[in-house]
Amino acid sequence: MELLGKSKEELREFCAELGEPAFRGAQIYHALYSERKFDVAQITNLPAALRARLASEARITLPEVKQRFESTDGSVRYLYALKSSEEQITRPASVEAVFMPSEGRQTICISTQAGCAVDCHFCLTAQLGLIRNLTAGEILAQVLLPLEEHKAQLAPQTNIVLMGQGEPLLNFEAVMAAVRIILDPGGIGISPKHVTLSTSGIVPGVERLALETVRPKLAISLNASNDEQRDALMPINKKYPLPVLMEACRNYPLRTWEHLTFEYVMLGRLNDAAEDARRVVRLLAPLKSVKVNLIPWNPGELPYRQSPPERIEEFRRILVDRGVPAFVRYSRGRDVMAACGQLALLQIDGSPLSVASPH
Ligand code: SF4
Repeated sequence: MELLGKSKEELREFCAELGEPAFRGAQIYHALYSERKFDVAQITNLPAALRARLASEARITLPEVKQRFESTDGSVRYLYALKSSEEQITRPASVEAVFMPSEGRQTICISTQAGCAVDCHFCLTAQLGLIRNLTAGEILAQVLLPLEEHKAQLAPQTNIVLMGQGEPLLNFEAVMAAVRIILDPGGIGISPKHVTLSTSGIVPGVERLALETVRPKLAISLNASNDEQRDALMPINKKYPLPVLMEACRNYPLRTWEHLTFEYVMLGRLNDAAEDARRVVRLLAPLKSVKVNLIPWNPGELPYRQSPPERIEEFRRILVDRGVPAFVRYSRGRDVMAACGQLALLQIDGSPLSVASPH
């Protein structure tokens, strides 16, 4: 039995099956996610006989940190070799996560799939295709390991962004199992105000997320101001075109403190004209509470241009002047290829590896 990724209820049931009191499951849950104890021998509030039994009948499988790239701005990019012990997982895979410290907080960007099937043209992860879905434990490990590694210098606030490799809403069950533990005050205990799931616009997934009582904030990777442009950049738009996506956004039940975030990668001479900005304003006009993050393109291997800073500022001004809050988000960790949309085509065990994607 793999323990990492299991809910409190699953761990209670597991302990009951072993003939132990169910509350032992809650103790394991607390030790795993609140105290980050990754060896049952360390869970010293369990009786020695139970620890011995767990050592033979259960596992806590962590990915191996194959490489760690440290940026001059303090960001650390981790390259993980996944070695899930879940029975159904047969394919080895690798993913990356990024730890970004800043004043008063740290942000951890995590992956939800190895590779991705969505095929956004500005994203190098797309070139891998989908290798496989990550398990809840593999998603959680990307949060737990950097927190443990930096525990001596952690700032009071932790932000989690599900913006690494993969489309989170196409791995819904595992992502939500992990998110519930991240958000549980008795688990990892991060506020839903500080956890953001970013999607390329999988409408059935957005509708399903809307029904969840415990859920992160939602960000939509927009990147275009009309269907023609978005079809060319993100073929998923042909399946869920902008009117359908915007309708799902309009129906999305925001909490009182919440807004929908739209991410917009600024691609020079492609989606960065003043007319694009005006179309984005019209597109978002029916929505109640929104904000737009404009992300300057990081030049790399793909044939897109950067928008000049003055054009990005003009775009932002048009949005703000028409009542749409808009911010320019510069990527962190550029020197270690940890910025949005950058991909390190490294080879580990023959598998190409990628880093945080633009969504
Ligand atoms: S941007 Fe996100 S959804 Fe699109 S291909 Fe890359 S990882 Fe997949």
